[in-house]
Amino acid sequence: ATPTAVMVATGKGASQGVLIKGGNALEKAHKVKTVVFDKTGTLTIGKPKVVSAVLFSHFSMEEFCDMATAAEANSEHPIAKAVVEHAKKLRQKFGSHAEHIAEAKDFEVHTGAGVSGKVGDKIVLVGNKRLMRAYDVPVGPDVEKYVSENEQLARTCVLVAIDGKVAGAFAVTDPVKPEAQIVVSFLHSMGISSIMVTGDNWATAAAIAKEVGIKKVFAETDPFGKADKIKELQLKGMTVAMVGDGINDSPALAAADVGMAIGAGTDVAIEAADIVLIKSNLEDVVTAIDLSRKTMYRIR
Ligand code: ADP
Ligand code: MG
Repeated sequence: ATPTAVMVATGKGASQGVLIKGGNALEKAHKVKTVVFDKTGTLTIGKPKVVSAVLFSHFSMEEFCDMATAAEANSEHPIAKAVVEHAKKLRQKFGSHAEHIAEAKDFEVHTGAGVSGKVGDKIVLVGNKRLMRAYDVPVGPDVEKYVSENEQLARTCVLVAIDGKVAGAFAVTDPVKPEAQIVVSFLHSMGISSIMVTGDNWATAAAIAKEVGIKKVFAETDPFGKADKIKELQLKGMTVAMVGDGINDSPALAAADVGMAIGAGTDVAIEAADIVLIKSNLEDVVTAIDLSRKTMYRIR
């Protein structure tokens, strides 16, 4: 495309909430055959909520929630926010006098797994089964049952271990965006296939993929695993777009031929991307590709 055509298209994109950084992305987007979507915050709304909580120990629900909150308080992860919010509501409901929650010491983030810290004299882990495994915390059949039942319902489970035992768990739900399914089917009609990559577990990922009509899923992938998936597809000769919102998506956004960041996403993702979807609406994945096609084929 001529510099003028690129400039016109960039301006047109901007007026529709599709921020295109430079001509390269615009010139590549029309060739995209595969769109790789992150799950949390990209296909889903990204504001998870706790919908169930169970105890597997002698702790009271309040004590349990307070310890989980202390461990999650310093985490930026949306799941952490859901846990903290749930505990806050619980305290209000039961008129707790505990004005503020203890702070966790030795707080650590385990990317793609959860967090850990010391609350008082207790070691608290909050995260998925992988985190429990890493700390040799046994996951009994009652816990397994709770987890698998909730994962079938497209929920993510958050296990809380206190001093080496699973003390309880939360189930978190994060609904898919209303436009997600239609965008996947529209892309399909354009000859473009959709794939999901996520750090979340296989069962939850599969349930969400089914809801939006995605057939190919890669779950339990870390940030570099996501980027590797992009590179594998490229090695097969495909032009690949990646759509993501998180810090954990930035290596994949950078690796993709066309990286698209959700406007409401993290700054790191926005920086790593070639295109920013300002309205955070997935329909603009189509808008961007369409704009590129029209520019490259000089259709008006
Ligand atoms: P995604 O790729 O879906 O955005 P992440 O890589 O951020 O997911 O996280 C993967 C999984 O790790 C989450 O689904 C959750 O099970 C667990 N996890 C990560 N951070 C936390 C946290 N702060 N609290 C609880 N669980 C967490
Ligand atoms: Mg995400």
